[in-house]
Amino acid sequence: MKIIKVEFDRSSPDLASCPQSLRPDFAFIGRSNVGKSSLINALTRKKDLAKVSDLPGKTKLLNFFVINNAWHLVDLPGYGFAKVTKDQRADFNESVADYLDNRENLLCVFVLIDSNLPPQRIDLQFLEWLGSTGTPFVLVFTKADKQSAVKAQANIELFKKEITPWWPDELPGIIVTSSKTGDGRNDILAVIAETLKS
Ligand code: GDP
Repeated sequence: MKIIKVEFDRSSPDLASCPQSLRPDFAFIGRSNVGKSSLINALTRKKDLAKVSDLPGKTKLLNFFVINNAWHLVDLPGYGFAKVTKDQRADFNESVADYLDNRENLLCVFVLIDSNLPPQRIDLQFLEWLGSTGTPFVLVFTKADKQSAVKAQANIELFKKEITPWWPDELPGIIVTSSKTGDGRNDILAVIAETLKS
């Protein structure tokens, strides 16, 4: 898929104020500093697109971009907390949880994980919660250029091992990316194109 047109739509504080259009959503989320803005800029080939989401007052909002007049790229607030299981939901950004659990347009969430780090509790807890909602997602390992492919792969294997007990039959899809080299960009776009077709 080629990204031809990118337009900022809106910043929504909650599910009720998300766009009412029928366009499907593809959302991006991850721990602060995971490389989300860089990845969104690399995907759209717009240098400062995700900056919109970093403007004061917007970092806690759900930022919607319309791509090719056809789908929404949704830049979700980064998480920076530890308790996200269903019982401890209050500690999670309530609007984001509500969006992920209940937004009908949402077709896939790209969950960003830093490939330079061993499995982080915060990511695992978030994934466990996300898995419990039944929302489809893909794991996107970021910053792969920062170390050798072998080391990145070792962290990915550790991560897979941690989550295998939750998905004994089929692990979620995994894409390895670098916003510096552009690696993985086409894989993300291919997932979106495939999902739009099905
Ligand atoms: P965000 O907080 O998740 O939006 O993260 P940013 O996109 O702002 O990136 C955080 C830091 O990681 C910045 O210093 C980026 O330059 C750096 N970074 C992001 N993506 C990559 C990448 O693919 N490779 C490398 N080497 N650095 C990256």
